[in-house]
Order: sequence, then C-alpha cells, then structure tokens
Amino acid sequence: MIIESKGRIQDGIYAIGAAELPGYLFTGQYPVLLDAGMTFMGPLYPAELKNRLEDVNRLKYHFLTHSHFDHAGASPFLKRHIPNMQTGASSAAAETFRKPNAIELIRNLSRPLEEKYGDLIGNEDVTFGGLEIDLVLDGGMKIDLGAGRTCMVVTTPGHRFPSTSPR
Ligand SMILES: [Zn+2]
Repeated sequence: MIIESKGRIQDGIYAIGAAELPGYLFTGQYPVLLDAGMTFMGPLYPAELKNRLEDVNRLKYHFLTHSHFDHAGASPFLKRHIPNMQTGASSAAAETFRKPNAIELIRNLSRPLEEKYGDLIGNEDVTFGGLEIDLVLDGGMKIDLGAGRTCMVVTTPGHRFPSTSPR
C-alpha cells in the first residue's frame, strides 16, 4: 500500500509526521507509534500527537521497524519529549543504536536534510546522539494495547541502505 498523504487511514490508525515518510499512529487505550522518519521531522510530531491523543504523554509505545536513519532519526527527539514512552526495537537495532560509527553515519545522513529543512526545526534540538531501547522486540512477541487489542512482532529480513549502512 502506498500512502501519499497524511491523516486517517482508518479509525484508530493515522499517518502522522511527514507525508513522504510518516509515522503510523495507532490510537486506543495504549497508543503506539510505528517509526518516526528522519531527524528533522521530530518537531512535526508533538502537535499531531496532541491532536490525536489529547495528551502527548499518552503515547505508551514507539516501535521501530529497523534502525535506518529515515525510520529512527526522529526517535531520540520523541524520547526527549515523551520521557515515559517505551521505545521498542529488535536486539540488532538496539545494538546498532549504541555503536559510535552507526550514530555518526545516521548524523551524517541526516545533516543535509536538517540544513534543508532548518525552518521546520527552528530552535529545537533534533540531534541523533544514539538511542536507548527500552523494550527489545522478538519475533512472535505480543504486546497488549488494551481494550482487547494486541500487537504482534513479526521478524522479517532487513535491507541495506546504503551499502555501508548498518542493518
Ligand atoms: Zn531502511
């Protein structure tokens, strides 16, 4: 499915952040955001989360599909803004986010876009300085989202981007 605009996908599921590279928000008792896009997109989230959740602090989970800069770049920003949110990713991704060379790669890939979209960032700190994973996600694991809803982790093969990138 290719979605070219933001907003409601169906009741309880929304594409938020940037239309080109959105995060997917599942509202409900324990809301979860899948992925977060690039570093410069971080400042887009608070207003949209407030709009969908009333209180941004209701966002209980932030799960990452993989460790690439265009999916996890804005995650540290979200963590700084929503301290009680639990960030989840695979053990491989958790390890990647602690590696100095991976952090440097993410920063280097993010920088040109941070410069291009400086107006969006304003005075916010969007720096990617590594990411601490609170919840290691293993294939088959089920996470209770409340009100009878469950999220199940499915492990899939990764992809490389670019060729020197960590998985
Ligand atoms: Zn990727």
